[in-house]
Amino acid sequence: MPVVPRGGGTGLAGGCVPVDGGVVVATGRLTRVRSFEPSTWFMHADAGVTTETVQRLARENGLFFGPDPGAAEQSQLGGNIATNAGGPHAFKYGVTGRWVTGVDVVLPPGEPASFGGPLSKDVAGYDLTHLLVGSEGTLGIVTAAWLRLLPAPEAAYPVIAFYDSHAAGCAAIALVVGSGLDVAVLEYLDRGTLALSGAACPADVPAGAAFAVIAEADGDADGALRRLREAKDTLGHGALTVRSYEARSEIASFWRWRDGVSTAVAAARGGKVSEDVAVPRDRLLDIVEASVDIGRRHGLESCSWGHAGDGNVHASFLVDPRVPEELNRAETAAGELFAAAIAFGGTISGEHGTGWVKRGFLSRQWPGPAFRAHEAVKRALDPTNLMNPGKKR
Ligand SMILES: Cc1cc2nc3c(=O)[nH]c(=O)nc-3n(C[C@H](O)[C@H](O)[C@H](O)COP(=O)(O)OP(=O)(O)OC[C@H]3O[C@@H](n4cnc5c(N)ncnc54)[C@H](O)[C@@H]3O)c2cc1C
Repeated sequence: MPVVPRGGGTGLAGGCVPVDGGVVVATGRLTRVRSFEPSTWFMHADAGVTTETVQRLARENGLFFGPDPGAAEQSQLGGNIATNAGGPHAFKYGVTGRWVTGVDVVLPPGEPASFGGPLSKDVAGYDLTHLLVGSEGTLGIVTAAWLRLLPAPEAAYPVIAFYDSHAAGCAAIALVVGSGLDVAVLEYLDRGTLALSGAACPADVPAGAAFAVIAEADGDADGALRRLREAKDTLGHGALTVRSYEARSEIASFWRWRDGVSTAVAAARGGKVSEDVAVPRDRLLDIVEASVDIGRRHGLESCSWGHAGDGNVHASFLVDPRVPEELNRAETAAGELFAAAIAFGGTISGEHGTGWVKRGFLSRQWPGPAFRAHEAVKRALDPTNLMNPGKKR
């Protein structure tokens, strides 16, 4: 009987959908924090604890959990691990896997096992902890995990800069990275995204703005302010305007706006087919332009935004979801976007996973021996293909 693990159900690749029958194993009642001693920086938590709960418990104890995927109130630790979720702060603090030092799992056909623990170092065997990270429920069910937290930064200030072209904005991103600025967040919004979401932006979007870059300067109180000045100077090169936020309420409304960008874009036509690809950072401009061109070729309005510092692009093709023919065109466009990402030396998924939505594309990214090795791992751990069949391939 196939088994499909399900966390908060917020995944964007259809990974927790039982497409071919079987049993859905939902982890929503595994909500215990098994141990948390803040002075050790380690937490042992059940898979069903929400991302927001982990973040909050860490923060209340002077610590910090870096992963900040957008649906944190619903998504769960097990789902975050299974998708190796990212978010804006992944630029400085890394994706979920970087915070996981151990996992408790149930391996097929039903054997509990533990890898790792509250350890900063462990090279005794193959790194099976991180084989489970990002495995999208295809190798086993994560029941709990050990997390290594960090002391919380004292302050964090966002800054947004606007540019008159995609090229000028991407040049500013390259300048931030090239000058070694240690910002925590490095995000972008392209021309189409600004047009659909800019009206609600707390910063006045200047006339002619075609690209926005968001950075965040964090650290101890003095360090964060110094970094903020440096970030504003650097982003100022070629910018139309630059705006930063230091008051707590302003910072909160700024991020609330940024969190709502996806909804604003979807509202334009009632729906969107959104995809998540990643490319080497120096190909960011190419993939941003490609996503617009692909949409245009298929008669679809398109736009993108995402985690620029990680080369991670969320490209959206706007659709009326009631029109199947439009949805078909958007699916074809998404396929071309994956091909473009691969051609630029990138990947079909930066952080959402392959799931069901991108089935069949992994072998295009990893032809021949690489894909065979991937399939051999699956066969070794799950010889009868019980775990989430049909996904991540
Ligand atoms: C508004 C919104 C914003 C988002 N923003 C981001 C973002 O910024 N960054 C990002 O990376 N993602 C983002 N996501 C996607 C999603 O929130 C993440 O992928 C998240 O990690 C999924 O967690 P979940 O608990 O909802 O998992 P689910 O959707 O339930 O499952 C996702 C996958 O993980 C597997 N799985 C779930 N639990 C387990 C378990 N215990 N053991 C083994 N496998 C398991 C499932 O089988 C499935 O393949 C966003 C989604 C939404 C709706």
